Amino acid sequence: MKTAAVTGHPIKHSRSPLIHGHWLKKYGMEGAYGKQDVPPETAVEFYSNLQSHGLVGVNVTIPNKEAAFKAAQTLDDAAKAIGVVNTLWLDDEGTLHGANTDALGFLGNLDQAAPGWDKANKKAVVLGAGGAARAIVWALLQREFTEVYILNRTRQKAEDLRDYFGERVICDDWDNRSNTLENCDLLVNTTALGMSGQPDLEIDLALLPTHAVVTDIVYTPLITGLLEAARGRGNSIVDGLGMLLHQAVPGFEKWFGVRPEVTDELRDIIIADMEK
Ligand code: NAP
Repeated sequence: MKTAAVTGHPIKHSRSPLIHGHWLKKYGMEGAYGKQDVPPETAVEFYSNLQSHGLVGVNVTIPNKEAAFKAAQTLDDAAKAIGVVNTLWLDDEGTLHGANTDALGFLGNLDQAAPGWDKANKKAVVLGAGGAARAIVWALLQREFTEVYILNRTRQKAEDLRDYFGERVICDDWDNRSNTLENCDLLVNTTALGMSGQPDLEIDLALLPTHAVVTDIVYTPLITGLLEAARGRGNSIVDGLGMLLHQAVPGFEKWFGVRPEVTDELRDIIIADMEK
């Protein structure tokens, strides 16, 4: 029986077992998917020896994504560009492959929930410059946005991303976030603001065109204050839960050989768990 797991430190709150467990059952597969706490000091060694732990592959979460990057023997384009790995799998020859599926998860979510969202492909505004923003900026450049604005409380981190990704990335001051929305086709919140227990994201949407799509990668609550405000003025909105579900797809396919579907049934299972 093939076994995979989510790994990180701590790991007990991960919802990945619920996602993969649902797919294993749905597709009638004999595999298993568990949780494994892997302290960062042992992480590279652990990932380099997945077979001896009885694993065909893993998801990797905080704080081990850099260790997984180091352990992987091959990297997909996203992992190379983003610099961290969240999915590992062994092939039949025992080669350890690494991928970053956050960007695919972000794109898969928008493709499913707002078909045509990338038609205009002109100006995107990304709030935040942390780990998730790095994957999202790369994803938007892949979809040929001509201008990707990044605004972050700590401006230097936005500038680091601009230096890394090049001239289509433009930095602006965090305090200018409401003004940057003029002519914007896509607004993305990648900060922790708006998440339960965190302060609200304060932004005035008055200048945002009504055709713009607004997405928040925070998914607790599912409809954040930003999404509520955007919906109230007629913008299309996409919540962040789909990103979590879509980023899981490539790993399941590599480990178990079936490309799983992100369905409303799966969303409802995760939402019910969030409400517990
Ligand atoms: P991270 O690397 O720690 O980055 C956090 C970001 O939030 C930084 O840009 C930070 O700005 C900003 N921030 C935090 N508190 C702030 C405040 N009070 N005012 C202004 N900015 C603030 O985290 P991450 O991994 O990028 O994740 C960011 C969020 O996305 C988290 O809520 C996470 O749960 C969520 N997420 C969701 C998915 C999904 O699948 N839907 C995937 C990944 C992450 P500074 O740089 O100034 O500190």
